[in-house]
Amino acid sequence: MDVVRSGGVEDAAASDLVRGRTLLGEFELTFCSDGTYLLDGGAMFGVVPKPLWQKRMAADDQNRILLGLNTTVVRTGKHTVVIETGVGNKQSEKMREIQGNQELLPASLAAAGVSVEEVDVVINSHLHFDHCGWNTTLHADGSVSPTFPNARYFAHAGEVAHGRLQLDRDRVSYLAPNYEPLIESGQMTLLTTEGIRAGAEVVPGISVEVFPGHTAQLMAVHIESKSHGGAARHACYISDLLPTASHLDPTWVMGYDLDPVTCIAERKRFYERAIPEEWLVLFTHDHFTPAAYLTVNDKGKPVVKSRV
Ligand SMILES: [Zn+2]
Repeated sequence: MDVVRSGGVEDAAASDLVRGRTLLGEFELTFCSDGTYLLDGGAMFGVVPKPLWQKRMAADDQNRILLGLNTTVVRTGKHTVVIETGVGNKQSEKMREIQGNQELLPASLAAAGVSVEEVDVVINSHLHFDHCGWNTTLHADGSVSPTFPNARYFAHAGEVAHGRLQLDRDRVSYLAPNYEPLIESGQMTLLTTEGIRAGAEVVPGISVEVFPGHTAQLMAVHIESKSHGGAARHACYISDLLPTASHLDPTWVMGYDLDPVTCIAERKRFYERAIPEEWLVLFTHDHFTPAAYLTVNDKGKPVVKSRV
């Protein structure tokens, strides 16, 4: 499988830039993209043997698999909410070479007709580099500025505290310019688990919930809207707890997960609601399936029922 792309806006067809659009009740959901990147297939599938995972995701000659960087834009009628902001433009030349990321989110938003000025809320599920990269834009003089000048940003305080520890295990994933300037300026609101339990709504219809495992305070984003006279419909951006539609088996957790045992339990907790309540599941790193409804197969395993 030839997955290495030269990258850049010129190479991205308009159809590539916007991965999908759907209505959820009265809300409009648009799946934008920061492009693709390449991660080690073994790291993405943890202890799962390659003969099993490569049937679902083919690896290149360096064992890398192609992953998406999906941002969900929710227009509620009153608010424009951006969930996740991709890798951004702060990668070193060396990492860009290894991962082949393309810095496409601004072009994707433009192609979708979303102006950065209209965005009034940005939510980061966690603060790994590939989820909050375009929170800020790096300029040629080395300075950064908020990519969404009128937005209030939300992240979990525990993620910031963890990032600041700069631990051997994951310091490469926490890049201060993605969040520290926003905290310093007061543009980023830090949520706590206690605060979320007391009131998880960020704007009407959009709330967060902690699903630990990948990181200790990873937040899923719930989106719920009711169309006129219709039933309430629910979508959930579950982020790295379920990075792609190829990771649905509860035990197929990632090498990157800080606590894989908790991930397995949290995935089961997620399915207990997502499947019977027919949630639209939004996948953060699946370039080809940004959103899907799930069901259970005859072996009792969660599988994709239908794609959006
Ligand atoms: Zn992550």
